[in-house]
Amino acid sequence: MFIMQKSLKIAVVGSGLVGSLLAVYLRKAGHAVHIYDRSPDIRKIQFSGRSINLAMSDRGWKALNGVGVGDEIREIAIPMDKRAIHLSDKLNFQNYGKDGESIYSISRGILNRKMIDLAEKAGAEFFFEQRIWDVTLADATLHIGETERGEWEDKKYDMVFGADGAFSRIRHRMQRQNMFNYSQEFVNTGYKELNIPANADGTHKLDKNSFHIWPRGEYMLIALPNLDGSFTCTLFMPFEGENSFASLKEIKDVERFFEKNLPDTVDVIPKLAEDFFKNPTSTLVTMKCFPWTYEDKVALIGDACHAIVPFYGQGMNAGFEDITILYEMMQEFGDDWKKIFSEYEKSRKPNADAIAELSYRNFMEMSSKTADDKFLLQKKIEKRFSEKYPDKWLPLYSRVTFSHRPYTEALAIGDAQKAIMDQVMLINDIEKIWDSPIVENKILELLD
Ligand SMILES: Cc1cc2nc3c(=O)[nH]c(=O)nc-3n(C[C@H](O)[C@H](O)[C@H](O)COP(=O)(O)OP(=O)(O)OC[C@H]3O[C@@H](n4cnc5c(N)ncnc54)[C@H](O)[C@@H]3O)c2cc1C
Repeated sequence: MFIMQKSLKIAVVGSGLVGSLLAVYLRKAGHAVHIYDRSPDIRKIQFSGRSINLAMSDRGWKALNGVGVGDEIREIAIPMDKRAIHLSDKLNFQNYGKDGESIYSISRGILNRKMIDLAEKAGAEFFFEQRIWDVTLADATLHIGETERGEWEDKKYDMVFGADGAFSRIRHRMQRQNMFNYSQEFVNTGYKELNIPANADGTHKLDKNSFHIWPRGEYMLIALPNLDGSFTCTLFMPFEGENSFASLKEIKDVERFFEKNLPDTVDVIPKLAEDFFKNPTSTLVTMKCFPWTYEDKVALIGDACHAIVPFYGQGMNAGFEDITILYEMMQEFGDDWKKIFSEYEKSRKPNADAIAELSYRNFMEMSSKTADDKFLLQKKIEKRFSEKYPDKWLPLYSRVTFSHRPYTEALAIGDAQKAIMDQVMLINDIEKIWDSPIVENKILELLD
């Protein structure tokens, strides 16, 4: 049974993934919901914004299942139960979790269209091509207009949610308050999208149920499957330096670079140079801030209050989990929105910081360690131990991806596990005796 609250008039700024799912929850709780987006209706245009695909995992599914839309979304998702690690001389596979545990590849555009459909079906009203420039916090009034210096129209609500992404205007206004903490940090790595088209018969050119990764140290290429048989690839690479976007200036530079460093992609990316120069090189940012709410009037949610780098595939999942937790607070505190907001931000902020840290660290794991034999052996030891002692050891990746326990817990336990594995990997002849009782007993001893 969904809870019903005293009906309010609520505005959600941003019809991205988080804004549209939030709208479904708010409608079900009995509110009138208006959603504003500066962009045109993504359902009516061919392409909007970033076309990358996303990995959905358990936290995302929980929020979708919470309003009964998980099954519909599963129809547009492809399960990936393993990493396919493309080294220069071989292809390794590494399962993500236990049998049957998968993350799911979903096209951002297809998912967003579907989410807007679902929110509309739930009764939310959408206003596209409406740019929000400012909000008056004290009375939840939005200021909307074509240009920042032009005329604005004012729309007063009982409450406003800022789901307007990493460069949120709603947060921008909150930043001008006393005691508002804010930080923004760009990493030196950028990204560019490339494409592996489908075979002529519509099948995938690479294994469809894998998250493909070409780890090359300071840079890496990944590829996620799409429903039409293609893969969306993302090249992550430093902006400057020897192997960098800056070093690939001419068509011949790009072709030579791929032939030398990513040779097994050359046959499957036919429009390499064309896509490389047509598609933008984008930046990656970590943004943190606090507080996330103002009285019982305004709250931030999703990337608007915690933008993270994408190396754990958790940005959207974390945003969806914000909604799960907000809804838990709505259930617990009824119509006391001041309390709901303050408990929501208190619960989510440390977890947002924890997943920001884990995501930042995971670049190293993906781009370097997956190519390292010692690291792969360590993962094998952990997996073996965890299968035998599931109550004593859940690997960090599973804690983040296949669990609903707080990210803070994953970070803390992950650090403790790392300290144990660092010692285990020092055992003499570990390569030979990795599956022996000596190793198992050592872990048990260190866990005590
Ligand atoms: C390369 C890359 C890969 C990623 N991979 C994953 C992944 O695998 N798994 C995962 O969980 N996450 C991933 N993410 C993160 C994920 O994309 C974001 O966390 C998610 O899109 C955030 O959703 P959101 O709705 O909060 O914000 P957004 O998607 O940014 O949506 C914000 C919306 O607000 C609108 N808007 C902004 N300003 C205004 C304004 N002033 N007025 C009106 N409307 C406005 C925008 O038009 C937009 O529609 C990835 C991110 C990147 C960059």
